[in-house]
Amino acid sequence: MAASAQDQIGLIMQLRRRGIRDTRVLRAMELVPRDVFVEPSFLKHAYQDIALPIECGQTISQPYVVAFMTEALEVADHHTVLEIGTGSGYQAAVLSQLCRHVYTIERYRELQKLADDHFEALGIDNVSTIIGDGWIGWPPQAPFDRIIVTAAAPELPEALVDQLKVGGRMIIPIGENRDSQSLVQVDKFGEDDEFTERSLLPVRFVPLVKGRVKRS
Ligand code: SAH
Repeated sequence: MAASAQDQIGLIMQLRRRGIRDTRVLRAMELVPRDVFVEPSFLKHAYQDIALPIECGQTISQPYVVAFMTEALEVADHHTVLEIGTGSGYQAAVLSQLCRHVYTIERYRELQKLADDHFEALGIDNVSTIIGDGWIGWPPQAPFDRIIVTAAAPELPEALVDQLKVGGRMIIPIGENRDSQSLVQVDKFGEDDEFTERSLLPVRFVPLVKGRVKRS
């Protein structure tokens, strides 16, 4: 059974019930069909509020977590956003509705190609993808107004803090193992690149792996 518009509306209502209040975020999620991004064998679950497996042993995040992170990021129209962990491309597609440009980095070529196909199918033209190691960010395009990391790091990657604008915000899951991760909000301020860290929500993400994939 294919996913329907009705399922999508049901999901948006569920996100509202769970506390997502930002109407720009809810609208962006309404505009991006999640069924385009899920693996075909999971199509009937596309509008359930659950994470799903995608190619290369990775996952497309739970819609509530996508909405929560997007809301916490407080993205504005003129912002450029860096995402680490393109995966299916769903989170980047949601962000693309809310800002000027999204730069997104993925380790797996197969996932990058699929994500590019999804963006093209939906006519999304303000997302740039590259294959690389998210731990080092994307220096040529830095600094960024916002950074979102969609894989869990054992500690805050220094290069990403460096590539955040003063006044900028990063949302990143931090934790050594799957059962002890927390979504952290990093706000950078002041002349000496000081920043504050605030824990927002317990989460469960695949790990942010160091280095590039040898072959994919
Ligand atoms: N944002 C994605 C979900 C990503 S799952 C979505 O909306 O579907 C996390 C992704 O991070 C995986 O695809 C994984 O391959 C990628 N990843 C892990 N470590 C990475 C690294 N060091 N650099 C870039 N991508 C990485």
